[in-house]
Order: sequence, then C-alpha cells, then structure tokens
Amino acid sequence: MTHDSPRPMFLRFHLVALGCPKARVEAEATLAALTARGLRPTDDPRRADVLVVHTCSFVEDARKESVDTLLELAATRTGRRRPRLVAVGCLPQRYGEDLLRMLPEVDAVVGRNDLARVADAALGRKRVMLSGTPDTRELEPLASRPSQLGHVRCLKVSERCSRRCAFCAIPAIRGPARSRPPATLVEEARRMVGDGAVELVLVAQDVSRYGADRLGDRTGPPLLRLLGRLSRLPGLRRLRLLYLYPDALDREFVRGLREIPKLAPYFDIPLQHVTDAMSRRMRRGTRRRDIDALLGRIREEFPEPTIRSTFIVGHPGETAADFSELLRFVHTAGIDRIGLFRCSDEEGTAAFEQGDKVPRGIAWRRFRTLRAAARTAMREKQRALRGRVVEVLVDGPAPESEWLRIGRTAAQAPEIDGVTCLTGGLPPAGKLVAARITRTSESDLVGELGIEPAI
Ligand code: SF4
Repeated sequence: MTHDSPRPMFLRFHLVALGCPKARVEAEATLAALTARGLRPTDDPRRADVLVVHTCSFVEDARKESVDTLLELAATRTGRRRPRLVAVGCLPQRYGEDLLRMLPEVDAVVGRNDLARVADAALGRKRVMLSGTPDTRELEPLASRPSQLGHVRCLKVSERCSRRCAFCAIPAIRGPARSRPPATLVEEARRMVGDGAVELVLVAQDVSRYGADRLGDRTGPPLLRLLGRLSRLPGLRRLRLLYLYPDALDREFVRGLREIPKLAPYFDIPLQHVTDAMSRRMRRGTRRRDIDALLGRIREEFPEPTIRSTFIVGHPGETAADFSELLRFVHTAGIDRIGLFRCSDEEGTAAFEQGDKVPRGIAWRRFRTLRAAARTAMREKQRALRGRVVEVLVDGPAPESEWLRIGRTAAQAPEIDGVTCLTGGLPPAGKLVAARITRTSESDLVGELGIEPAI
C-alpha cells in the first residue's frame, strides 16, 4: 500500500484466529486495534483488502493448520485483486524472516513482541516486525473487541512460561513468564464486564503461577488476591481458570479457591502423564502420589468439582507398563474431561534429543486405546447428571436451529468442552437459567427449561 492507497476507513480486513484461548485474546486485541485505525472487519476473505492470521506453532499439526490457512487465504486473490496477507504470532516468532522466504504469498510477519503494532503491518507500513524485547504495552489494559460471544471473555493474566517441560517448545518460542499487573487486569476485566461479559476465563501458559515471577511473591496468593478483586466486579457471574499446573495446587491454595465467590468449581490441570518415570522424562516434577493427593484435596474442598486433564502418549521413553498405568488411571481416577495428544517430536525441545523414541504405529495404537477408554469414562460421568437441575449460562442459538438454545454449565469451558442444548424456551445469550438434565453424551447435555424458577 502506498501513499495513494485508499484511506483506512475504506479498507476491510478479514481476521482468522488459530491456536489456544490465549491466541484468541491476542486476536481480539488486533480486532480492536484495526477497527480503531478505521478498518472494517468482514467475514468474507474475498471482500477483504487485508487478510490477517493469528498463527500457532506449538506442535506439527498446529503449524500445518497455520500454513494451510495462510495458503488458502492467499488463494482467494484473483486478477488485479491482491489483498495484503499478514502472518501474526507464534509462526513468525519461531521462524522469523525465513517465513517470508518459505511462504512468498505472505506480505508481512509480526512476532509475539509486536502484537500491539499489527495495524502498521496491515496498512503496509511494515513488512517485518520481529523485535527481540517484549512490548511493554502488554502491561497496560488491552483494548479488545469480542471476536465471538460478548458475554464470555478470556483474560490473559500472564505471558510466556518459565517451566521446561521436555516436549514443549513454548518457552523457547515465547521466553520466560511475565505476569500482567493486577490493576491492569482488573481494569481490563471491568471493561469486558461493562461490554456485557458475564463469564471471565483466566488464561495463560500456566495460570497457577500468576504473580510468582514478581518480586517477593510466590505461587498461589497473587492469583487468589486477583480472583478476589475480579469476583467483586458487579455484573460478573462466573469466573473460570484454565491451565493450572499440578504442583502449584497445595492445600492452602485449593482452600483459598473455595473462598472465591463466582469461581466455577472447574479444575483444568494438564497432567500429561501419571507414572514417575514419565514425569521425570517429561521434566514435569509431579510424582504419582502427588497427583492422587491433589485429586483427593480438590474433592475434599469442593463437593462437586469438575476435573479436566490432558495426556500425551508416545513421549520418548514411554514403556508398555507406563501406558498401562495411564490407561488404568483414565479408567479409575474419575476425571470428568479428558484431552489427548500424540507426542509431537519438536525440534528445539529436550524430548527431541532424547532416545527411546516410541514408533509412530505404537503411539497411534496407544492413542486410540486411550481415546476409547477416555470416552467411556466421560460418558459414565455425564450419565450421572441425568435428572439433576443445573445452572446453565446461555450462549445463544444452536448452530442447527435458531429455535434451539445452547449454553454451558460450570463444568463446560467455552470452545473446549461440550455444550448443553436447552429445550422448552428461548432465553437470551448471557442469561443464567436452571435446567433439568434429560439426556447426556460423552461431552454434551440436553437440559429442559421451565422446571425451576430462573436462577
Ligand atoms: S507449563 Fe510446560 S507445557 Fe505448559 S507452556 Fe510451560 S513448558 Fe509448555
């Protein structure tokens, strides 16, 4: 775009956000930044003058999805119409300017430390934005616009990660953890609630370590203090935590969480594996007895907690015995929500250098076996909810029909877990309603309205 390019207010942009809820927070800031510069969003890439993709490069599958999306959008160019294509986030951060050589279709790359300046790349003023130092603006309240549901918003409490899990490339891509100031977060949350947010989802690489990187603080109390302040925001009805690291959840912390009003009794704790040998190999630092004690602690403090976890199969060093113990754990530990991954051999990670690689065929077999066990376990947990009256936050019309509403219980995280289909009424999005569970599947629920007075 040159000095005689059309003025921003005539430009339309199409934004795609890939990757985790943290990337979605960044995309919502980009949405706000571009509209603040006068550009207008469009859902149709064929009508856009600028195409922006917030990419992910965590694992091979995520990288492939990012590259495919960039190429698909480039393919929407026809004849003289050549919208500008901007790659943002983890893929440029990992591959730098090489990305422009690998993908000549891409016009500009914006790394993780330059997110606040995406608009300059979109408006053609910059081709490469890959500064080495974190942008101090992330310490200020971010202007953001909801990219999807306005009543459910993600609040990113810290950036990056200081842990060293053997299979993970994130610390190398993003750098050590940096918590955002509590005053910044409370102000950001206040704005989101002012814009209609009813549920706030706190996200980070490791939410449980919030504040521990700040001088003189330790894991636990800073997050509890922050939650206390957020829970006092008028209009907010539900707080949810994602990405809790097992070793941070000591008794004092779990008991402290129980005292937080509006906190969903939802524990997202990626365990990754359960044997001591694999914990050492993965550099996770959690022993099996710690995991069992943690689950016991949570169930002692919370009458009906929802526990979500993720597991990796096929990590170097995983033996048949390790896998059998993991399979037994999934069958017996009563985990409500289970996510599974096959280990991705990531260059630049400690696991990449490890021996005893698990052959792909065996990894796939273990993945399928564990998936079947996980589905059975989740189905049984869900079945126990039949006949119960639960509180559901309405998200809006169901994709299948505008005459059907969907929502989520406190046990269902947005875009990660299933939904509750509501029958017998058309309550508005953002409303909390009571519903009796009539049908269940491994992830979704069907709830009948009009049973009890609205909550
Ligand atoms: S906690 Fe481990 S898996 Fe999660 S981002 Fe940090 S290093 Fe990666």
